[in-house]
Amino acid sequence: MNTFQITRPRDHGQATAATAKAKTAQQGADIRFIAGGTTLIDLMKLNVEQPQNLVDVNRLPLDKIEATPDGGLTIGATVRNTDLAWHPLVRKNYNVLSEAILSGATVQIRNMATTAGNLVQRTRCVYFRDTSMPCNKREPGSGCGAINGFNRNLAILGTSEQCIATNPSDMNVAMAALEATIHVRGAKGERSIPIGEFHLLPGNTPQRETVLEPGDLITHVTLPPPAPGNRSLYLKLRDRMSYEFALASAAVVITSANGKITRARIAMGGVGTKPWRSTEAEGELTDQPANETTFRKAAEAALHGAKPQSQNAFKVELAKRCLVHALKLATQPA
Ligand SMILES: Cc1cc2nc3c(=O)[nH]c(=O)nc-3n(C[C@H](O)[C@H](O)[C@H](O)COP(=O)(O)OP(=O)(O)OC[C@H]3O[C@@H](n4cnc5c(N)ncnc54)[C@H](O)[C@@H]3O)c2cc1C
Ligand code: SF4
Repeated sequence: MNTFQITRPRDHGQATAATAKAKTAQQGADIRFIAGGTTLIDLMKLNVEQPQNLVDVNRLPLDKIEATPDGGLTIGATVRNTDLAWHPLVRKNYNVLSEAILSGATVQIRNMATTAGNLVQRTRCVYFRDTSMPCNKREPGSGCGAINGFNRNLAILGTSEQCIATNPSDMNVAMAALEATIHVRGAKGERSIPIGEFHLLPGNTPQRETVLEPGDLITHVTLPPPAPGNRSLYLKLRDRMSYEFALASAAVVITSANGKITRARIAMGGVGTKPWRSTEAEGELTDQPANETTFRKAAEAALHGAKPQSQNAFKVELAKRCLVHALKLATQPA
């Protein structure tokens, strides 16, 4: 691990000014924010990330969870994953978010991990984490070790010829289904980014993962008010029940009345290069009877266009079954 300097600003302006001098906010950043450190320190130890300056955001006043006047929720960037998952308003109104966070990592990691750090956490592709291997994300133009290599855990949706890495976050999938908005303070002022526009598809630039620019500090995330009468849940399928990333997961937020679905929000994890919202599946569910035929049609729509790699064709059917089962659970009588 390279040597580095660390600064601990106490206000947003100082934090933004310190990182605005960075060459990039993407792979290869020479200045990085650090929050819980559970992603970044790992990658620094592996020499995958080598920032010379770290700007510690933990002293900024960004650790509050508060109800908004319209009935939604504001979540500060440094709120710990554990605190978010167990907050009474999250448990009551955004069950899918609570379940998604609690399905990830371990208690100890969730106690350190923050909202912003989780949003920006990086892929677990083994070639990305091994500097002796080719990886277009880590070193643009070096090739992709995974496409003809070990790709069992990687993506089947949103891939490109340059990169097939999965977005690893569980929280992000729930945030996508909840239509979260990410609020950023940057060198040019403040802006709000719908989560669907925050993460980028790999295309020809897999090293660029989000829309963040140098100096962009995530300050908070907002959730809209919960849809009246909705039921929401997160179902995660993985190789073992703890300390493991998703092979496939589904975040569903469903409102139904008299056996008919009136509103659906669907996102999938473990299968996409970004948290995978499926408006196609939502279209198949809305105004339809809550039954297996409808659920299966939604699952087919969600996985339409899936492009499996040599080792992960099983994910297509696994993800479909995951969504069907999540929908059954969300619509069965209480
Ligand atoms: C062994 C292990 C198992 C795990 N299992 C899972 C799992 O099953 N599911 C899952 O979802 N996750 C899992 N994780 C990942 C974990 O959730 C993330 O490491 C964590 O959420 C990152 O948060 P952090 O605060 O520690 O981020 P950091 O490591 O501090 O930062 C991560 C990135 O976010 C940036 N950043 C931090 N704060 C800000 C800010 N305010 N504005 C802009 N950028 C910012 C940093 O610059 C850095 O690039 C696992 C991690 C480990 C180590
Ligand atoms: S899938 Fe992406 S992250 Fe993995 S080796 Fe290929 S380019 Fe790198």
